[in-house]
Amino acid sequence: MPSLTHDEAQRRANLIQVTAYDVSLDLTKGDETFGSTTTIRFTATPDAATFVDVAPRELHAARLNGRDLDVTTLADRRLPLTALAADNELVVEATMAYSHDGEGLHRQIDPADGRAYLYAMSFLDAGPRWFAGFDQPDLKAPFRLSVTCPPDWTVLGNGPAQQLRPGHWRVESQHPISTYFATIVAGPYHSVVGEHDGIRLGVHARASLARALDAEAPEILDVTAKFLDEFHRLFGIPYPWGEYHQAFVPDFNAGAMENPGCVTFRESFVFRSRVTATERARRAITIAHEMAHQWFGNLVTMRWWDDLWLNESFAEYLGYRVCDATTDHRPWVEFGAKRKAWGYTADRRPSTHPVAGNGAADTGKALSDFDGISYAKGAAVLRQLALRLGDDTLLAGLREYFHTHAYGNATFADLIAAWTSAGAQDLDKWATVWLRTSGLDTLRVSADDGTATVHRTGEADRPHAVSIAAFDEPGRELVRRPGVLLDPVTVPAADSALVLPDAGDDTWAKLAFDLHAWQQMADRLPRLPDPLARVAVWNALRLAVADAELPPELALDIVEAGVVSEVDVLFTTLTGWALDTLVGVYLPSGAARAEATRRLAGVAERAMSAAAPGSGEQLAAARAYVAASDAADGLRDWLAGTSAPEGLVVDDELRWIVVGRLAALGAIDESAIEAELTRDHSAQGEVHAAGCRAMLPSAEAKAAAWQTMMTDPNVSNYELYALGAGFWHRDQTDLTAPYVERYFAEIPATAGFRQGWVVGEVAELAYPRTAVSRDTLDRSAAVLAGDDLDSGVRRSIVDAADDLRRALASREKFA
Ligand SMILES: [Zn+2]
Repeated sequence: MPSLTHDEAQRRANLIQVTAYDVSLDLTKGDETFGSTTTIRFTATPDAATFVDVAPRELHAARLNGRDLDVTTLADRRLPLTALAADNELVVEATMAYSHDGEGLHRQIDPADGRAYLYAMSFLDAGPRWFAGFDQPDLKAPFRLSVTCPPDWTVLGNGPAQQLRPGHWRVESQHPISTYFATIVAGPYHSVVGEHDGIRLGVHARASLARALDAEAPEILDVTAKFLDEFHRLFGIPYPWGEYHQAFVPDFNAGAMENPGCVTFRESFVFRSRVTATERARRAITIAHEMAHQWFGNLVTMRWWDDLWLNESFAEYLGYRVCDATTDHRPWVEFGAKRKAWGYTADRRPSTHPVAGNGAADTGKALSDFDGISYAKGAAVLRQLALRLGDDTLLAGLREYFHTHAYGNATFADLIAAWTSAGAQDLDKWATVWLRTSGLDTLRVSADDGTATVHRTGEADRPHAVSIAAFDEPGRELVRRPGVLLDPVTVPAADSALVLPDAGDDTWAKLAFDLHAWQQMADRLPRLPDPLARVAVWNALRLAVADAELPPELALDIVEAGVVSEVDVLFTTLTGWALDTLVGVYLPSGAARAEATRRLAGVAERAMSAAAPGSGEQLAAARAYVAASDAADGLRDWLAGTSAPEGLVVDDELRWIVVGRLAALGAIDESAIEAELTRDHSAQGEVHAAGCRAMLPSAEAKAAAWQTMMTDPNVSNYELYALGAGFWHRDQTDLTAPYVERYFAEIPATAGFRQGWVVGEVAELAYPRTAVSRDTLDRSAAVLAGDDLDSGVRRSIVDAADDLRRALASREKFA
């Protein structure tokens, strides 16, 4: 199926303008399909020809200005339209299929109560799977939705929803929206409503999550209100979409989607078990991120996907900023620990691209660029811009941008023009090196006779605004130079001082230390008082391992010495990385790996002892302990409720982590997984059970998981992800060895029966990441040499092969 190209989108936008969408859905036609009738009013260049995007199960009729079109001309989800008039009305009647992959109109039966839950995800190009449309970001129009459904359902969408009579609803967006924002949420959802500043608020989840939603709704509504106030203060434009609904929906691929007036979130944000402070912070940041989009993306939308950063980099930056300003969370620590690490990895791969103007020639390529560069790097660069412009100019430019382009589309040049008009100078050069050039610089310190000099190397001539700080051996700060513009800069520092070139974690760069500095880091890193300084070093450590500059054993020593006392986001991130990447991939299998795993279990055990009973820190440590422990009997006792550490509640989610670990160890069989599923007969339980089965160390379990991943077109996306995550277990490489060859033979064909997000995601998760060998690399190169690979599969293999290449280089150097 061809993706819409940028050229095609430009041609269509030159020919037509859409006036209104009127979509009528009949959701009472059974379990598999629904009725969809779309009426589109649009103006056009008379006599021109174009096409409408529609992906039906069956196309019943299409009428253009009262004239029947030949429905058999539909091909590759495009229906040709010819002989257009100046004013047109197109009516498309179709039967469409519900999806199970989180895109189009997704339908899930909740195993807890057998009831059906629906939501629509139109992003990135899945709108035509539930209504006919001109599916590109710059053809905006008001969107009216009429819905027939069971009488006990709730319906939500891109504007206030009106129940005309039981089972009949109408939802109308108050302003024009892009097709990729169109949504509906429908089913017997449980709701909690509120109000803030005249805006009606609602949070919604499946009925079986009602208790959890009721418990969490006050916190969700509280941060929602705070964030609305802060965005109003920053932007000076009232929230534009009437009501603000936040629906937590099943099988959701992304963290959330910013549909105007009706944001959809992954439902794991409705906590049904105990969570850590980090998870509460992540939810708050996501809520703020999606709210930022109500202006950045929804009010003003990028013209084409190559300006994706206008949406995501800003929402990412503003989400963290607003959360930092209005809550007790420390979101910038999380940003460094998780998001920047994600982006650094992406920016060093062969698939890297500039933040702005990613060059996406079609929608398939654009989807691949929803990565750590568009989010994390973009946000980090915007922090640099804020330091350069000052907040007043930054915000004045944004306000002008919103006012000038409200309810329309804009480009990179429009935003630069808005800042320039607000007083920014020489922005073009800055934008060229930071936004239009890919890759990251390296910052390195050289010591000389009581001074330390920070040098920058990199391809573009980038100014870095950083805080340089020097610390003595007990971790006391000797010198700090805030707001320094590199390069090079010299500060006074004793030769024994630890000098950090970016002590506030403000910029986007690799900090390079020599081996001697790394050898001292196990002592010195834990003594640094500021978590942002430690984040900068922990990121440097992960990059040094990936560059084969730091032996994995030494990195493990530093982790072992430093993480027990870390804040929970760093503890969780680093123990997870150490186990999955350092031990699971960089260390060869055998005695060294087993010993390293035991050491990590010991680290987690010490952290558990140090944490207050019942605290989030204790929970984080317990999860890490379970992941590394091989003490099967002790873990079984946790499940039995006889020996868990004091204060630790072994609730549903923690039980599944334990069951998964026991499965991987071969300490339980399939019947124990089934018993756990009987105990927790929920949608979440079914996904966990699938993951646990895939981890069982038996040929039968692996064969069954593989068969589903490679051939089943109907299984839900979440189950596929759980299978992929469990399959290539670090300690089961003998068992999984036959699947290396099979992966490359079988994965390309999965794009033939799956579509969208799930294709690339499964290709990434099912990649033989633990088969670290030349052979796997060679097979990767061979399959990439073909030119008929799906773009999502291709991107996943390019990226996974690069990770594998780095691990192999490290093994070859340090083995
Ligand atoms: Zn976003």
